[in-house]
Amino acid sequence: MTEPQLARQLIQVGLVTNQQVRHAAETRRPGIGIAQALVESGATTAQAIQQVEPAAFTILPQNVQAQGIQSQGLQAQGTATNGATDSGSAVNGAAAHGAAVHAAAANSAGTALQTVEAHDAVLDAETTNANVGLGTGGAVIMDESGVTFDGEARGGDLDDPIMGTIVTYCNELLKIAVGLRASDMHLEPREHGLLPRYRVDGHLRSGGLIPKELQAPIVSRFKVLSNLDITENRLPQDGRFRATIGGHVFDFRVSSLPSIHGEKIVMRLLDRSALVTDLAQLGFAGKTRAHFMEMLSRSHGIILVTGPTGSGKTTTLYAALAAARDETKNVITVEDPVEYELEGVTQTAVQSDIDLTFAVQLRAILRQDPDVILVGEIRDGETAEIAIRAALTGHLVLSTLHTNSAVGAVTRLQDMGVAPFLLASSVAGVLAQRLARLICRGCKQPLDQNSEEYKDAVIRLRVQPGTPMFKGAGCELCSGTGYKGRLAIIELLSIDSEFRRAVMARDDADTMRRIATSGGMKTLWEDGIEKMTHGLTTAEEIGRVLLGSQEED
Ligand SMILES: [Zn+2]
Repeated sequence: MTEPQLARQLIQVGLVTNQQVRHAAETRRPGIGIAQALVESGATTAQAIQQVEPAAFTILPQNVQAQGIQSQGLQAQGTATNGATDSGSAVNGAAAHGAAVHAAAANSAGTALQTVEAHDAVLDAETTNANVGLGTGGAVIMDESGVTFDGEARGGDLDDPIMGTIVTYCNELLKIAVGLRASDMHLEPREHGLLPRYRVDGHLRSGGLIPKELQAPIVSRFKVLSNLDITENRLPQDGRFRATIGGHVFDFRVSSLPSIHGEKIVMRLLDRSALVTDLAQLGFAGKTRAHFMEMLSRSHGIILVTGPTGSGKTTTLYAALAAARDETKNVITVEDPVEYELEGVTQTAVQSDIDLTFAVQLRAILRQDPDVILVGEIRDGETAEIAIRAALTGHLVLSTLHTNSAVGAVTRLQDMGVAPFLLASSVAGVLAQRLARLICRGCKQPLDQNSEEYKDAVIRLRVQPGTPMFKGAGCELCSGTGYKGRLAIIELLSIDSEFRRAVMARDDADTMRRIATSGGMKTLWEDGIEKMTHGLTTAEEIGRVLLGSQEED
């Protein structure tokens, strides 16, 4: 007995109505069978259901659907072109959701592909004896999807109805991610399904749980796109693909990680057209911007960008590179990995599996007559040494370091064994940064100075009472979050003669910090508070991003 058959039987004996079945299917929790859902929704009792069908409560919601389709004679089993699905039932499960995908695709609000919709559509179609087949539905959606993949003429094998459905489903997921301006999309295997989660402005948002039987084919689809080995599901892998979505070209950097409930896929979305290469747009203003531009115009020296993971170092580096490049210069990068392709720049990537490290690649680059070199990250003394020697011999070198503050970068390089005199003579400047969420322009309003929230913020941030603060009330533009976009909070250390002396004398970090601030460096904290009072970001964001992270290193 399948779930739709059970529903049909219950309706036929007059125990429940078609509407009650639909309602129960719509509102049930993932993994709950229709019998249990009917009881929980108050439509009938467990006893009554068991009188009609004693085994009603043992019918599983998902497998049942797959069998239901099978019994309708769909000759789909084992024909999926990727050949990667674990079982025929998974493929059939996918087939069952053809109608559901159509429903979800038609739903332009589309914040999530709702499981309940999927269940409902299938159940509804079956209880009314409609044709759940995929033939037309799938094909129509494909034409509307507006998603094309590089090296794949038609976005997948659409002659195969099941693959067509999975392709559509995957396209919808990508479109949702793009629509939300997500930086990453996660497909997280849970016990009862696959949970899509989207990182928007640094924060994760969950979509609707995708039925478990779609997990394997969806994961396989993305693995195929990313050139991963689909027969390997025990080891982590990484790859990438490129897709055009709504006229924009996106690069997706994909990684898979086997977990106890299956492979988890995480995709980083890189929107080539949205790469901000304008320093002003990133949050650089006034003197800071002028100083940074001056550093970038130099013909030699090293400029370092520091900050924790996710602080936007790479974006700033690319913007810096865009500012420093011109047709008269040979610009070469070594990255791990290449995130965005930049016009007029030779970009290379490290490859740890063949021992092509930053240090090895950097040596090769120096034989290529470079003017400007971008080193993705300085992780070890060897790379630091080569980068600094390059900076001393007529090259402008840009790189990142994993430290919290600008001064911290100098002490970190000393710890890596770089001699003080090399440091003092090569480092042109160090930029420390964090990313804070921008208040949504659509719903920005001043924070009421009599509110608890305001008073708490004054105490927490130790600012003067009366300091202006703002927040977003939440509107359609920002999906009710009050934030839209991000900006950099910046601290720029330009190395002057007094700071150089301190480096040579191996002064401690506190002393160097004092020298830097008395030399006019605006600290991360000062920049953050300034951006808060100007209504660019909130006290909450400043607290989250800056408190407790500035004095270490
Ligand atoms: Zn808003």
